[in-house]
Amino acid sequence: MKKQIAMLPGDGIGPEVLEAAEAVIRALPELDFDLVEWPCGAGEYLKNGDPLPKATIEGCRAADAILLGAMGIPAVRWADGREMAPQIDLREIFGLYAGVRPTKLYNAAHSPLKAPVIDYVLVRESTEGLFSTRLRPRVMGADEVRDEMLVTRAGSERLFRFSFELATHRRNKLTLIDKANVLPSMAFFREVFDEIAKEYPQVETERVYVDAMALYLVQRPQSFDVMVTENMFGDILSDLAAATVGGMGMAPSADIGDDLAVFQPAHGSAPDIAGQGKANPVATILSVAMMLEWFGDVDSLNAAGRIRRAVELVMSDAANATGDLRGGLSTRELTAKIIGAL
Ligand code: ATP
Repeated sequence: MKKQIAMLPGDGIGPEVLEAAEAVIRALPELDFDLVEWPCGAGEYLKNGDPLPKATIEGCRAADAILLGAMGIPAVRWADGREMAPQIDLREIFGLYAGVRPTKLYNAAHSPLKAPVIDYVLVRESTEGLFSTRLRPRVMGADEVRDEMLVTRAGSERLFRFSFELATHRRNKLTLIDKANVLPSMAFFREVFDEIAKEYPQVETERVYVDAMALYLVQRPQSFDVMVTENMFGDILSDLAAATVGGMGMAPSADIGDDLAVFQPAHGSAPDIAGQGKANPVATILSVAMMLEWFGDVDSLNAAGRIRRAVELVMSDAANATGDLRGGLSTRELTAKIIGAL
């Protein structure tokens, strides 16, 4: 049956990288998709006063999956100083608790490290943690402001089960990243992890403090397979991880719930390069592959395999690069090369 994909281009380089995603989807005849575009983002707020209109939420709810570009314009903020972040709102509205951030090195020339292999997946909790009170109204003028780290048993159990299942489809190793030595919420997070670990005796587990993990991801990234952590820790570590494989333009992501999922590059709207046609489209194209794997039917899986092989082939030549990878190709030129290799 024809699948409906809600397309949310958003701000900055969002529309440029979603154009690349659409071109790749259209080049795969086995995919019979309706791509329906919906307004969203800080630009939409400037036009109509709401960065995430109700019609967009309903359009997403009715879709089989959501493809998102990037959201945010630094100068467009709420009165309390926060940027508009409808991509985070969507995770909370639809219960997309598992933020899946794969990190894979396609060419040694992309990495500032000397690691021979980098290929792991970080699962970031995406509905609670240190983001849980982000919408609480701030008392302006107060001399003290608090954010809370929320860890619930239900939220942690579903996150850990998702991560263990993912590990069983990879190399059977799961690393918990926490700060259980200092924060009570994180000690609880670890207790729940230890309970769920008993359901998966075939998966090797380890527990690492978040500060040590920042060190290890630089020193020995090859030792990790699947990792799972709290929302804010995952936010920070996934940017660090992206830096080790060429930057944000190489970092795809998925926010997965029980019924719906959003697929988007892990990067933001990159205002510094927006409108210049030089954004790296690889993160977004790999996010399309993740969407197809999540669909899981034979045609989608075949198409995902074709995308992955094409990206591997094209990126194995260091000359196939946009400016972030010290190359001279435009977004459209690199996309055309990947399409040519499908
Ligand atoms: P957010 O907070 O919304 O995640 P951010 O402000 O942390 O966003 P990004 O917008 O991701 O940051 O940009 C960080 C840096 O990475 C910028 O220098 C930007 O130009 C670069 N960058 C991000 N995405 C890409 C891309 N697809 N291609 C090339 N460079 C990119």
